[in-house]
Amino acid sequence: MKQQKIVVLGTGGTIAGKSAQAGDNIGYQAAQLGVAELLDAVPGLPAVLQDCELEAEQVAQVDSKDMDFGVWQRLALRCEHWLAQPEVRGLVITHGTDTLEETAYFLQAVLAPDKPVVLACAMRPATALLADGPQNLLDAFAVALAPSAHGVLAVCAGQVHGALDVRKSHTYRLDAFDSGEAGPVGQVEEARVRWLRPCAADEGAASALQALRGAPAWPRVEIVMNYAGAGGAAVDALVQGGVQGLVVAGTGNGSLHHELEAALQRAQAGGVRVLRTTRCAYGRVLPKPGDALAVAQGLSPVKARVAMLLSLLAP
Ligand code: ASP
Repeated sequence: MKQQKIVVLGTGGTIAGKSAQAGDNIGYQAAQLGVAELLDAVPGLPAVLQDCELEAEQVAQVDSKDMDFGVWQRLALRCEHWLAQPEVRGLVITHGTDTLEETAYFLQAVLAPDKPVVLACAMRPATALLADGPQNLLDAFAVALAPSAHGVLAVCAGQVHGALDVRKSHTYRLDAFDSGEAGPVGQVEEARVRWLRPCAADEGAASALQALRGAPAWPRVEIVMNYAGAGGAAVDALVQGGVQGLVVAGTGNGSLHHELEAALQRAQAGGVRVLRTTRCAYGRVLPKPGDALAVAQGLSPVKARVAMLLSLLAP
């Protein structure tokens, strides 16, 4: 049998970022260092890998605020390629923090992998006085090699999160992610993973990957929000502009200003898909009998948008 291997796919982000001054943790350029350079900066990697081989590939080099369909498409197809190799035990993906939760949900939805696919990130650039990237990367390898790890996971500041629940919840702190009420699936302590709950992630269907393969672009799905004084003009303009789907981040239990609700109902009657979510950080929208607008099964607005994009691609 061939030697087992972990494949690292680089996509950019702050973890690959550089700033002119070591003390500057916000005025840096993301996505500057290649994935091979990131690996070189991780002391202790051979000990964690033991006799597992390492292979690295640069799939993209972007600040994840600029994440787009092309990168997602390429990334999903490279993941598919590597996951199909019997000697590949798991994947580690270096990624920016800003849209990491969307990529995690997207990859889980299109790959539903039995093997672990672990997203690693950093809140400080690689040039920082105390960069967090190398430790997060090392922890990601520990997760990728942990028995019973599977599905798409994200690792940051010693916490392991599942693709469904992970979200960036802090603008600056090193432990910038949480999993809301579900909590993290595990913790990494000295290169060992302590699972807190099963990392089972059944969500996803490979049929979406099939649809993605040939798609030249993704459907247009936008997010609108409810707030005091919200009206229907933005929705009407989006419909006029040809939007195919709308996710609304409602207030509280998905409630909507009556003008916004009327505009969304008009959009829906005209063939635009509409999903109701909440702008609340905790809880999910509970539907009532007779609701005109469907709710997004506990997904955050950005993840509901990804779900809608995929369902429009692979109806
Ligand atoms: N803007 C950066 C990115 O998402 C932020 C980060 O990685 O922390 O790529």
